[in-house]
Amino acid sequence: MRKPKILLIYTGGTIGMIEDPKTGVLKAFDFQHLNDQIPELGRIAAELTAVSLDEPIDSSDMNPLIWARIAKQIFNCYTNFDGFVILHGSDTMAYSASALSFMIQGLQKPIIFTGSQLPIGTIRTDGKENLITAIEIAATLDKNGLPLISEVAIYFEYTLFRGNRTTKISAHNFDAFASPNFQPLAKAGVTIQYNTSNFFQSSFSDLHLSTKMDDRVALLKIFPGFSPLVYESLFDVKKVKGIVLETFGAGNGPRNSDFFDVLEKYIAEGGVVVNVTQCFSGAVDQGKYANSTIFNKLGVLSGKDITTEAAITKLMYLLGNSNSVSGVKEDFTRCLVGELSTI
Ligand code: ASP
Repeated sequence: MRKPKILLIYTGGTIGMIEDPKTGVLKAFDFQHLNDQIPELGRIAAELTAVSLDEPIDSSDMNPLIWARIAKQIFNCYTNFDGFVILHGSDTMAYSASALSFMIQGLQKPIIFTGSQLPIGTIRTDGKENLITAIEIAATLDKNGLPLISEVAIYFEYTLFRGNRTTKISAHNFDAFASPNFQPLAKAGVTIQYNTSNFFQSSFSDLHLSTKMDDRVALLKIFPGFSPLVYESLFDVKKVKGIVLETFGAGNGPRNSDFFDVLEKYIAEGGVVVNVTQCFSGAVDQGKYANSTIFNKLGVLSGKDITTEAAITKLMYLLGNSNSVSGVKEDFTRCLVGELSTI
């Protein structure tokens, strides 16, 4: 049986850091010497190639240009590998996994993000297990010898999640991620149990790359007492093309005529507004309560059960790739890559 070929792409984050024994300062280690840090990698049944961003970053510095670089790198060597593992800081991993899921569509191979809460060189690190199992999953082939997973996923603390359904929930716990509205793709115990009925299968027969992202999007989380006038400058379609509105519960907002006026004007001028819930789980159901029916009338789009991370990156992707506002709106409410439930 041939060994699957896996490309590891190190972007930065805690996982690739080691502590300087003298100063205690965390610094990125040379990824060409990965085996020195994790000798166990030599025993994995996969052929590993490791590359690193020229300058590894804290994932707080992640942005659409770096997403584009990673997406192009995978696209350009797609046929040479069976799977891809991206080592990434956990802070913005859910955004990057969502962004990549829109940028590279038609995947027949896995792109698995992983990282850790403790640096790989520390004795209690969670990084070794995360990396080793992420590689093992990326290298798993089905009975036809084809990659088992064919989507962008996040592996963290014994669980494989669909990337664009995931959100970071803890700055402290090893189980730092959750996918509140979508069951995990796999659970790793003594064996790895795959939930194959949840796997995403693209309807595209070949790989599509589109790295254009329009960053003129905004995120507005409402709260009791929120004054729409404070945010008036945001509703300027010349500067902001789309707004993700984080509302209460099943998509409710305050009945405030100033708020309705700015929304109405912004949407009439060509702005796109998407309604997502602030709740950890559940979906927007516009029209269920009187406090959300107005959103339907104004043309606010329901984000259903999409995460904020997926909503922002989907909006960036659609605004970057569609020629018309109506096209963006139509595509936003459709499920493109498993990011939202349609029922
Ligand atoms: N600040 C780090 C990052 O996101 C934390 C981590 O690696 O988990 O890059």
